[in-house]
Amino acid sequence: TQAPVNVTVTGAAGQIGYALLFRIASGQLLGPDTPVKLRLLEIPQAVKAAEGTAMELEDGAFPLLAGTDIFDDPKQAFEGANVALLVGARPRTKGMERGDLLEANGGIFKPQGEAINAGAADDIKVLVVGNPANTNALIARSHAPDVPAERFTAMTRLDHNRAIAQLARKLGVAVSEIRKMTIWGNHSATQYPDLFHAEVGGRIAAEAVNDEAWLANEFIPTVAKRGAAIIEARGASSAASAASAAIDHIHTWVNGTPEGDWTSMAVPSDGSYGVPEGLISSFPVTTRDGAYQIVQGLQIDDFSRARIDASVAELVEERDAVTKLGLV
Ligand code: NDP
Repeated sequence: TQAPVNVTVTGAAGQIGYALLFRIASGQLLGPDTPVKLRLLEIPQAVKAAEGTAMELEDGAFPLLAGTDIFDDPKQAFEGANVALLVGARPRTKGMERGDLLEANGGIFKPQGEAINAGAADDIKVLVVGNPANTNALIARSHAPDVPAERFTAMTRLDHNRAIAQLARKLGVAVSEIRKMTIWGNHSATQYPDLFHAEVGGRIAAEAVNDEAWLANEFIPTVAKRGAAIIEARGASSAASAASAAIDHIHTWVNGTPEGDWTSMAVPSDGSYGVPEGLISSFPVTTRDGAYQIVQGLQIDDFSRARIDASVAELVEERDAVTKLGLV
């Protein structure tokens, strides 16, 4: 049998971690033939809670779970990591300025980038979930100069999945009929879910919907503000759906996109579609043999261009802010 794959999860005692870890242990991250070893990172005051989760993982008697170790030191947690899910982050609290938020997260993602650089396995794949995810990924990447830049990604798969679900509901079709959905830009309210390249049963989704007012005034804001709607309804932020999307992101990265389809990932830009090189921005990507490629050659009309540019401008501002703070 295969040697276990080391999966490091930060913020393991949090809400998303609680939903995520059991799905990893059950084999849904890497497939039914791949044993996993979990390496959990928490801040010291949350280590005890992580130990409780580890007890429950043990009680699951998962055949694929080769063990769970808990750390409060990033250097140890990322030692030998093949996959890293960076979920723990500093949430924005009342009265906190954006600069404070970025600075607090710099204090988390800089040492984690350094630890990945120092000790992760050669095939390390990093997914940042903790917000502001794109910029946190940028910070971590800039402190890991020996790791290929393209291994640092941020999650827009939940936005992607939400967009598919909203479109399927509008058209009364199964989610499985929708292909080529794209989220462009930042994982924030400025993100742009694109129906001009998505397909429904082979037709362009925007044409199948044929309702520009719905697209501009309902679809885009519903997808972008879905997180707030869930907090309002549930009294807590989305967790299981975020964990599910994290599983999807890594699973697709490792196992490939189906023929005739693609997914959305925030990845370091190579300059495609006018997105400044190096910014971690969401694109349509295909994946194969554990690597991804940005889909090339899509025609971008004025409606889409304006929205992509607005979200990318926000990423530029975030990058400039963390540059000023000396975090990248
Ligand atoms: P959650 O597990 O609910 O969320 C973790 C992060 O995921 C947050 O930054 C959150 O951003 C983000 N996120 C991204 N997408 C979504 C989404 N769709 N829905 C909800 N969240 C999303 O947070 P908890 O507070 O429950 O747990 C965080 C844990 O992280 C704590 O146990 C804490 O101790 C730990 N932590 C660990 C660190 C470390 O390992 N070094 C560092 C910092 C914290 P947003 O806040 O914007 O919703």
